[in-house]
Amino acid sequence: TTSAPTNVFSSGWLKRVYEEKKVPVRSRFPPEPNGFLHIGHAKAIAVNFGFAKFHNGICFLRYDDTNPEKEEEIYFSSIREIIEWLGFEPYKITYSSDHFDRLYELAEELIRRDKGYVCHCSREEINLQRGGPDNRGPRYACKHRDRPIEESLAEFRAMRDGKYKAGEAFLRMKQSLTDPNEGNPQMWDLPAYRVLEKNHHHRTGDKWRIYPTYDFTHCLCDAFEEISHSMCTTEFTQSRVSYDWLLEVLDMKIPNSEEKGPMQREYGRLNVTGTILSKRRIQMLVEGTTVEKKNNDGTIEKRVIPPSVRGWDDPRLYTLVALRRRGIPAQALLKFVEDLGVTDSLTEIQTSRLESAIRRHLERTVPRLSMVLDPVKLVIEDATEDDETELTVPYDPKGMIPGERKVKFTGEVYIDSSDFREEASEGFFRLAPGNTVGLLNAPFAVRVTSFSKDFSGRVSEIRVAKAVGEKPKTYIHWVDTSSAVHIVARQYFSLFKTDSPNTLDWKSGGWADDLNPNSEVVFNNAVIEKGLEGLINSHSHNPSRASDDLVRFQALRTAYFCIDPEPEGDTIVLNQIVSLKEDKAK
Ligand code: ATP
Ligand code: MG
Ligand code: MG
Repeated sequence: TTSAPTNVFSSGWLKRVYEEKKVPVRSRFPPEPNGFLHIGHAKAIAVNFGFAKFHNGICFLRYDDTNPEKEEEIYFSSIREIIEWLGFEPYKITYSSDHFDRLYELAEELIRRDKGYVCHCSREEINLQRGGPDNRGPRYACKHRDRPIEESLAEFRAMRDGKYKAGEAFLRMKQSLTDPNEGNPQMWDLPAYRVLEKNHHHRTGDKWRIYPTYDFTHCLCDAFEEISHSMCTTEFTQSRVSYDWLLEVLDMKIPNSEEKGPMQREYGRLNVTGTILSKRRIQMLVEGTTVEKKNNDGTIEKRVIPPSVRGWDDPRLYTLVALRRRGIPAQALLKFVEDLGVTDSLTEIQTSRLESAIRRHLERTVPRLSMVLDPVKLVIEDATEDDETELTVPYDPKGMIPGERKVKFTGEVYIDSSDFREEASEGFFRLAPGNTVGLLNAPFAVRVTSFSKDFSGRVSEIRVAKAVGEKPKTYIHWVDTSSAVHIVARQYFSLFKTDSPNTLDWKSGGWADDLNPNSEVVFNNAVIEKGLEGLINSHSHNPSRASDDLVRFQALRTAYFCIDPEPEGDTIVLNQIVSLKEDKAK
């Protein structure tokens, strides 16, 4: 049976969201610039930018920069670059801070409409008013809730002008705190503005000491930018009521109607298990940490945990900068996220599921080259000058990927040490005394005559004879020694021994005992055929490579690799993207 092609935007949840309000789409992706984006954000980007693109609408990139205590310049540029890498172009880049003046004006207006009041209660006191730690106790108003409008106005201006320190005054929304029938904590007089101690803002400088909260800012900025569909993740489901409430009391939305103003709808997060995505935890991996353990006798034991990865873009992480550096193609990642679909429930996937999707994509798109991770020299004793040749080998034996390269063949090649055994054994068809083995694409097979070892007992040279006309049981790959390019190759494995690192002890440092000591394996003596140079050249002349500019290939019988942007001196460094087949063991 065939049916009309559908995709995530023309079916299911996103289709329903569109049909609720058939207007030109104006969406936004609103990250807080307080960290690097991770694979979950790829879903948010796909949903917001993809939805707008699908409906010929527009999508803003809005930095939600309302908390100067946590924001840094590097996050701003990194977020922009990652969106571009994923192939999207914001209609406009905006900042919540663009609207600070207008937000302030609306806060005063809220007070004037008797929908906001300045409160001086402590955080603890406010929590008690909101029903205590479990939000189940009785709720009650404090004396500030009914203070005169003029007094709140004056106090709000005093907050602005620096009379209060952090924690001494809040602007609260006058919602339904005292209505015993209101079960939604988002309606229990949320803070709208607070005083911040560390208040220097990267864009507005020292102008403000008070900053608006997410709950106050988000819906209003959506309205200012005339966002039609404000899509966010389901942890904001309860916030929809307060989102609408604020817009309604300021006449920016009509109660129980989507006719005017933006509309919030919530989709399920994408979570990846087998790794960690939490900013705070990744930070411990990147920077290392010191934990303190209190012993029974009251003494304190310090444990210094060194960094376990090289940076936020270490290919073992699942930040988007890391996935990019590891060589995951942007288009493949996006397709993967879209294929998972969008609904209102959480999508949990294993890292292995992403890897098989990437593998399927690479299989159809990247050329093959011969590379040897752990080389041993193989000398064909009876090869003569007549055997020297230059072969023309297609990039893809199946012909799906166009192009070919020249491969030199002389009497001496490198093979991988794992393709040789000192003694033949049943079921081992690769190189061992007595076995005839083919060299991929070479004119004849070979048979072992002798081998030698170095002082450490490692096989250092294998000598073979031509086995012309014999049919080998298997073929191995090789690299011509005279033209080999020496490179460094890095393979990556899971950072943790457990499959569920989020369940480790992240409080007192127990997670460090579960780190996989072999999460990175480096081959410093690896060699690759000269064809890599041709690949680099043709790549740098390809106008369609856009921002996804990594050279990728399949190393025959080995794994998929890409060239790391940072060479070691003059030596090219390769990162393993994914293995050829799913690894069973770690
Ligand atoms: P923080 O932990 O600081 O609140 P965050 O993970 O919520 O950060 P934001 O910068 O606030 O990240 O997120 C920007 C957008 O991305 C939001 O709309 C958020 O809902 C969405 N988002 C964040 N994490 C995921 C995820 N795992 N899956 C899908 N969308 C996500
Ligand atoms: Mg957030
Ligand atoms: Mg979060």
